Amino acid sequence: MTELSIGILGAGGRMGRALVRAINDAEGCVLLGGVDADTHAGQGKDLGTLAGLEPAGIALTTDTRALVEAADVIIDFTVPAVIERHAALVAETGTSYVVGTTGLEAAQQQAIEAAAETAAVIQAANFSLGVNLALALTRQAAAALGEEFDIEIVEMHHRHKIDAPSGTALALGQAAADGRQVNLDQVADRGRDGITGARKRGDIGFAVLRGGNVAGDHSVVFAADDERIEITHKAADRMIFARGAVQAALWTSGRDPGLYSMQDILGF
Ligand code: NAD
Repeated sequence: MTELSIGILGAGGRMGRALVRAINDAEGCVLLGGVDADTHAGQGKDLGTLAGLEPAGIALTTDTRALVEAADVIIDFTVPAVIERHAALVAETGTSYVVGTTGLEAAQQQAIEAAAETAAVIQAANFSLGVNLALALTRQAAAALGEEFDIEIVEMHHRHKIDAPSGTALALGQAAADGRQVNLDQVADRGRDGITGARKRGDIGFAVLRGGNVAGDHSVVFAADDERIEITHKAADRMIFARGAVQAALWTSGRDPGLYSMQDILGF
């Protein structure tokens, strides 16, 4: 069986380097190449070496178009500002696209949805198995518990993270809103500061912590009078996201165009 060739966008980043290791560990796929910004200090260096492995014989480059054209699947963990360009290339070539970049604005999200008309696109705010189970449990708990349970979502990430709340926290909020059959935009409370007044019944609150090298902690708290349920996931290493993204890349093989989620892949 021929192996699936994978190209990484953002290959010099924290997730990009984890992806190089995850592809190296996985069966059925091979690393084709990696691209990063022209300002990245690792330009021209070997992708294996950058990831802490033996040399792979492939250098980090800036040629996004060539990689998207040549790869069976592209995995994108970059920055929101470049997503529209990446999505347009994918739309043009029909290359399968696994996208984990978070903090997207509406136009960037629309570009991904447009690409899904001609390519198999898998988008997840979090590619870990455990978080995807937490999403399913949150939806279920929110559907079962009434509005006497206040829902709060707490997340903590490393000091370098640039968006807040995390994409995963927002996805957990969306799962809770789906369970309650409400519109998240209308009930989300994302920035408490000062004299906020009492908590509004039905709101879904978000709290954000940043510090150290925390890979990603999330809790959904359902708080009623005299009792509290908490669904918590703690990521100890970003390899869990990289392994999930590679699993998603393998799943795209032979898949029709469309926008898929990690929930589709795991069957939750
Ligand atoms: P990072 O800053 O370490 O890596 C991002 C990389 O993208 C950098 O190396 C940067 O130079 C590169 N980049 C910038 N412009 C580029 C361009 N034009 N072409 C190619 N590369 C370019 O960040 P990170 O921690 O690796 O996270 C990357 C993204 O993935 C963030 O949005 C983060 O929130 C998200 N993330 C998602 C998941 C998930 O499971 N979905 C998990 C972890 C992180």
